Amino acid sequence: MLDGKWIREHQEQVQQVAEDKGIELSVPELLHWDDQRRALLQEVERIRQERNRLTPQIEVQIREQGPDAAAALKEEVKQLNRRLSGLEKELEEAGREYRRLMLLVPSPVSPDTPKGLSDLDNVVVKQIGEPPAFEFTPRDHVALGEQHRMIDIPRGVKTAGARNYYLSGTGVLLHRAVQQLAVDLLAAKGFTLLEVPLMVRSEALVNTGFFPLGVDQTYRMAEDDRWLVGTAEVPLVSYYDHEIVDVTHPIKLAAASLCFRSEVGSAGRDVHGLYRVHQFSKVEQVVLCENNPELSEQLFQEITQNAEELLQLLELPYRVMAVCTGDMSQKTYKQYDIETWMPSRGAYGETHSSSQLLDFQARRSNIRYKDQNGKLQYCYTLNNTMVASPRILIPLLENHQEEDGSIRIPHALRKYMNGLERLTSL
Ligand code: AMP
Repeated sequence: MLDGKWIREHQEQVQQVAEDKGIELSVPELLHWDDQRRALLQEVERIRQERNRLTPQIEVQIREQGPDAAAALKEEVKQLNRRLSGLEKELEEAGREYRRLMLLVPSPVSPDTPKGLSDLDNVVVKQIGEPPAFEFTPRDHVALGEQHRMIDIPRGVKTAGARNYYLSGTGVLLHRAVQQLAVDLLAAKGFTLLEVPLMVRSEALVNTGFFPLGVDQTYRMAEDDRWLVGTAEVPLVSYYDHEIVDVTHPIKLAAASLCFRSEVGSAGRDVHGLYRVHQFSKVEQVVLCENNPELSEQLFQEITQNAEELLQLLELPYRVMAVCTGDMSQKTYKQYDIETWMPSRGAYGETHSSSQLLDFQARRSNIRYKDQNGKLQYCYTLNNTMVASPRILIPLLENHQEEDGSIRIPHALRKYMNGLERLTSL
């Protein structure tokens, strides 16, 4: 949620960003409700004061002039109370509408964000490594997974419905190995590791900017105001909810967690294999820092670089994309996606998403720090995927396959795989 005064001073800009991000919001309507609630509040206060001034006079009149003397005054107070209760209802409605619309206001976007409608308009920032040129017909990860008894989608669907899977044997080892490598890299870089709650209150999702717009993407626990998180970003940022923190040095947090996504709206998309599933694991980086745009940019490059380092250790070709306005979420100021080469798609596929959010989440979550002058300021927050699996298994298996169906294990993973150098076909 942005500052109300800032929105008023930048009405056109806010409206434009909402349109660019595909968010249905009318800034004039928002300002109308803001004006309404302010005017109503003033009127309510005025009437309350008037009533409070008149009420004691009833007692005085009765005492001085007898019980009938105060009838007119009593009637006046009664009318004031009636008017007050009507206005209070109107005030409540104006406040509700104002808050509802405020929760839809998007974060501004950085000046270097490309304008565009969808991921087709994202712009390549850099490309690292070359897609492999196979001298045989490569298999896709589903075929490789079956061949090595690592991935079982039919049984996943049998147990849990579409977009579910089992991993087994070396599939589990690989899945855990990439996460452990990611966790170890981040720990070595000074990130604090957290094990986080995965069922959170709706407030945490509102405060981190996932609600209201992402409600339909989120699984709700029946008869309980608790929801399954789609990313550890939610509990990581919420860790400091309503706190005053010390960001003299940026706070760097990481968590490995399960993520749950309903994927509503993606029917028919990416239905093959492990690309888009309802449950996956992710190692997430979250950073909180002072409200300094240069520092935020520097940290953004750093957390993007962390993920790149991991991909280089996995010996995978990838590219970094500047995400355009139409492909950005409400809360994002600047975003890079990393896409890794997936031979079965004959294309790069998104594996990482790095974002700067300025103070969008901190305002909603009320996370502040004291600046050099002792003044309280909202923090800036950032986040990036370190690795998400099983999606990363797609490029890992497909790029490292060999003609006889065996799969080469990149050096950096071997210590997590009991020293295995390759997976040979069963
Ligand atoms: P996001 O938090 O939406 O930016 O996603 C971060 C990363 O999580 C993506 O780049 C993917 O690697 C992974 N991911 C997101 N959604 C899914 C999904 N439905 N199935 C598998 N992996 C996913």
